[in-house]
Formats: sequence, C-alpha cells, structure tokens
Amino acid sequence: KAIPVTHLRDHTILVGYGRVGNIIGNDLKQKEQPFLVIEVSEGAVSKLRESGIEALAGNAAQPEVLKAARLAESRNVVVAIPEAFEAGQIVQQARAASPDVRIIARAHSDAEVEHLQGLGAHMVIMGEREIATAMLDFAKTA
Ligand code: AMP
Repeated sequence: KAIPVTHLRDHTILVGYGRVGNIIGNDLKQKEQPFLVIEVSEGAVSKLRESGIEALAGNAAQPEVLKAARLAESRNVVVAIPEAFEAGQIVQQARAASPDVRIIARAHSDAEVEHLQGLGAHMVIMGEREIATAMLDFAKTA
C-alpha cells in the first residue's frame, strides 16, 4: 500500500534514529525546525510518533519512502545510519532529486567518506575520527 506523503516543505529529512540520529532529532525538535524521521525499526517509529515527531516507517534507500518524505522539496538530508552502502543509495537519490538539497552523511572509514562524497554528499562525518579527536582533546587537558 502507498505510504502517506508528508505535508512538510523545506524540511530536514533525518534518516535513522539510533545513537546518532536521536541526538540530532532532539536538537531539531528543541529548535522547532521542521523535520521528519525515516526509521526502519517499527518500535522506534511508534515511540517517535508518541512523542509528537513525524516518522515514516521503512528503509530510506527505497525510492517510494524518500518520495513520501518529499525528498525533492527538502532542504537537508541527514543520513545518520552506519551502513555506507545503503547510505550511498540514499545520498545518490537525494542528489538526483534536487541540486540544492544539503546532504550530510555518516561514515566509519576513509573509503566510505570518499564513496559518499563521490555520490554527492556535502559533508561526511567519519565517526571514529570524531571519537579520536574528542579523546585526544581530553588527553591533552588531563
Ligand atoms: P545507530 O547506529 O545507533 O545510530 O542506529 C542506526 C539507526 O538507523 C537504527 O535505529 C536503525 O534502525 C536505523 N537504520 C539503519 N538503516 C536504515 C535505513 N536504510 N533506513 C532507515 N533507518 C535505518
């Protein structure tokens, strides 16, 4: 059956609401930024809806899910999932849907950073590098 299409425009599409996505989502909610979440976990989707956050259930790599999120009319796509192959499929569709949408993605290796940038992500954050930087900062002050 067809997925109901969001009413949002110029919004942020947040893909994944795990350890990374929930921190981003909390901030967007606090700042009253228009956003919706795409999550493959039905349990997470139920909890999001209970807390008043718009959420689509499904795999964000599927074109019909991104269409329901009005990808072409979104402002930002934040790909906060750990799997770079699926992330790449999402980044690629976002770039194809709109030349203006800002794409931010998550990676866990230098090769993944290159892959996601090559597909059109503006900003790719490599998790382990950020962890190292934070640990190093702390070690310096210790
Ligand atoms: P974490 O690594 O803790 O930030 O969790 C990643 C989250 O992303 C989990 O809640 C997963 O259910 C979700 N996730 C992973 N792949 C997809 C996908 N293709 N589409 C939507 N949600 C996903």
